[in-house]
Amino acid sequence: MDPSTTSDAAVFCGLGVFLISIVIAGFVLSIVLLVYVARDAKARGMDNSVLWMLVVFFLNILGLIIYLASRPKGKLARCSSCNNKRLEASATCPHCGNA
Ligand SMILES: [Zn+2]
Repeated sequence: MDPSTTSDAAVFCGLGVFLISIVIAGFVLSIVLLVYVARDAKARGMDNSVLWMLVVFFLNILGLIIYLASRPKGKLARCSSCNNKRLEASATCPHCGNA
């Protein structure tokens, strides 16, 4: 066996593993971002959370930045009735509808 071919194959294989890791990391990151945006949008009582998930899905970090800039501002607090997160200032809980 030619030693140079073997090392080339090793480099190629290493590069492949590296690229696959990046793709998997990017995929995991988008899932995490999607879950975060879905939960956050729901907690803030936004009806268009699906639209925001699409934005984040296609634009990733950029989409997250746009979302963070345009979501309703305010602190999230735990709802006393259902224990989910909700905007402190909101009149009713988006999860259970309690005041
Ligand atoms: Zn609630």
